[in-house]
Amino acid sequence: MTEWYNETLYPEVAQRFVIKNIVFRERTEHQDLVIFENPVMGRILALDGIIQTTEGDEFIYHEMLTHVPILAHGKAKEILIIGGGDGGMAREAMKHRGVERVTMVEIDRSVVDMCVKYIPSIGAEAFKNKKLNLVIDDGAAFVKHCKDKFDVIIIDSTDPQGPGAVLFTREFYADCKRCLTKGGILVTQNGVPFFQPDELGNTAKRLKSLFKNTAFYLGAVPTYYGGFMAFGWGSDSAVHRDIPIKEAATRFKASGIATRYYTPELHVGCFALPRFIQKLMAG
Ligand code: SAM
Repeated sequence: MTEWYNETLYPEVAQRFVIKNIVFRERTEHQDLVIFENPVMGRILALDGIIQTTEGDEFIYHEMLTHVPILAHGKAKEILIIGGGDGGMAREAMKHRGVERVTMVEIDRSVVDMCVKYIPSIGAEAFKNKKLNLVIDDGAAFVKHCKDKFDVIIIDSTDPQGPGAVLFTREFYADCKRCLTKGGILVTQNGVPFFQPDELGNTAKRLKSLFKNTAFYLGAVPTYYGGFMAFGWGSDSAVHRDIPIKEAATRFKASGIATRYYTPELHVGCFALPRFIQKLMAG
């Protein structure tokens, strides 16, 4: 009898995955954690009933939330990742030779430990990398008291519920802004606008009240279903946001990084928004 994992992100629509086998399951201090195997997507991490990352398509999300801001910045040395417990974001960020340190603030130690143990292909290498400074803490508390400055801050959080809710507030974004170097860039995991329009609209309002240059860019991640996934962008430097395709290509070539999704053409094209998302952004 086929067993299915039914995602419970939305009450009226849902995606489901055949469960080949449950690899690990526990109620951690913060959330319900499941790692299971699917014949198509490989190993899948779900938290509180929501698909977080899969071996099959994690590269799309992790490449777009790292290479776009880091290549746009051009001289990023210090990176802060809030969340990111599977290690994929840190893995991609540390591929940049100019990046000297990645501070990753993950609230749930179990996510790190179980992803290293049961989905090593995503981020196990990252946790061995000397550039990584892993902090187990609430990201909101961390930035509230942080005295360090970062060139790029990446919010690789769960959705705005449970422990992730605080990572979508204006107060949190304001604290992040204070932790940015001059011209630094904040990027956020900002959901699927077709099914989560308020998430984009709210973030747009909050970022616009804090940054001179606010934008969203898009990526197509199959297991974040419902069309494009949106990534929020906040910076006081307009220069970074508008690097021409030739410059993106030059920087990407110089990085020597091999990607499976990111391209310089996409770097520029991903900021082009469909009308309905432009309207959500305009508020
Ligand atoms: N790719 C996923 C997405 O787009 O929803 C995110 C994956 S990553 C596993 C999300 C991480 O955020 C989880 O490991 C979770 O424990 C962490 N997280 C949630 N709330 C947090 C908080 N307040 N501070 C730090 N980490 C948090």
